[in-house]
Amino acid sequence: TADEVPGPDGVSGDEITRLAERHLVQPWPVSGSIGAEARGRIDAGEGIYVTDAAGRRLIDGPAGMWCVNAGHRNRELAEVMAAQAMELSYNSPWYTTNVPSALLSARLAGHAPEGVDHVFYTTGGSSAVETALRFMQFSNNVKGRPEKKLIVSRQGGYHGSTYLAASLNGRPRDHDWMDSAGDLVVKLTCPDPFRRPEGTTVEAFCDFLVEEFRQMIEARGAERIGAFIAEPVMASGGVIVPPDDYLKRMRKLCRDNDILFIADEVVTAFGRLGHVFASQDVFGIDPDMITFAKGVTSGYFPLGGVMIAGRLFEELRRSNHSDAMFAHGLTYSSHPVGCAVALKNLDILEGGLLEHARAVSDHFQKSLKALEDLPLVGEVRGLGLMACVECVADRVSNNPLALDIEVGKRIDRHCQELGLLVRPLIHMCVMSPPLTITAAQIDDMAAILRKGIELTMDDLVREGVW
Ligand code: PMP
Repeated sequence: TADEVPGPDGVSGDEITRLAERHLVQPWPVSGSIGAEARGRIDAGEGIYVTDAAGRRLIDGPAGMWCVNAGHRNRELAEVMAAQAMELSYNSPWYTTNVPSALLSARLAGHAPEGVDHVFYTTGGSSAVETALRFMQFSNNVKGRPEKKLIVSRQGGYHGSTYLAASLNGRPRDHDWMDSAGDLVVKLTCPDPFRRPEGTTVEAFCDFLVEEFRQMIEARGAERIGAFIAEPVMASGGVIVPPDDYLKRMRKLCRDNDILFIADEVVTAFGRLGHVFASQDVFGIDPDMITFAKGVTSGYFPLGGVMIAGRLFEELRRSNHSDAMFAHGLTYSSHPVGCAVALKNLDILEGGLLEHARAVSDHFQKSLKALEDLPLVGEVRGLGLMACVECVADRVSNNPLALDIEVGKRIDRHCQELGLLVRPLIHMCVMSPPLTITAAQIDDMAAILRKGIELTMDDLVREGVW
């Protein structure tokens, strides 16, 4: 077992597990095991693979948490990190600036939609979303319209784990036991074509979604709504690709009503959909702000940020309160090491990885789509190098399975035995491998996932729960 395998630095695996159980608080813990839990340990990574504590090599199906875009153990990224730390490991972003953040900002502006040409750096996705929202609030205060603050998000969305960002989240578990700034947020229907009302076409469903937003603006008043935030493809909500033109039409409503459109591209940027940013290049929209994190450094360094349209700054400069301070900043804003890693990561993306991701994504989608012949699978959907296998109780009704069956976790357990890490989401399995994945590796991944689902079906039948 894992506990008998010596861990890094000569400490026994057993001791490491004991230390974790005694001292480590893992994210998203449940009360019954909070502060006393050690999850399966990963010791190493190489390319699309990780090695667990038992020495098993596993395909990293979710690329960590949708972030290891350039793959594990990339020497160029590791070396640039070390080199920058030796050159300048840190400088105060309040009093000074540094070379990597200036260069990176210009590079990112070159990839973002026209005019979205400024960047505020943070430490990750939550702080990026938080920054975008606080900037909206600040701007409206300065512009003399402090009542224009409501934030519109969607059911099923995920935007982070800081207070305001988490308040936008649209899954029950984000609110069941957690407080949130609920009065600042309004939520719209999840644009999930698979779960659209029975008997409705996808086009009619899209009309409904847009009309719902229009009516909400009318009911609440455009003068009270500050921003609409959306993941172009909802990630943790189950890789929800919205109906065609949904984003364009929502964007138009925002523009017509002077509501800022924030595209949360924490997952969809940096090659996941084959482009540095997906908003314009994939969906043809030009948001006012774009939040990003994760793939910006391929997960090698904690960095995030928000792209902001330059015109929003001009408006502030021209306002009656040009002395008002946006009192918001982080010690690690514009971190030189993070920005240096991001610059090298962009070199890798532009140097062929984006092209590779675009080239293999069709095979990736088709290979997973083929799993729809399994009776447990209701739908396989996705875009680029993100996909979701949604399991159902039966394929006629497409009713969800009982939650306590935890079918995703069961599939993940079988797949791990067979050499694949899956990201279970209740009754869904999400796949978003490193972008370096080859066609042959995609075949391996799909074959293991098929076997894992087949074994799970056998278990469910044997236990009489399906
Ligand atoms: N937005 C989206 C769309 C995300 O998927 C995530 C993280 N999964 C976040 C924001 C929050 O990012 P972080 O965990 O880096 O704070």
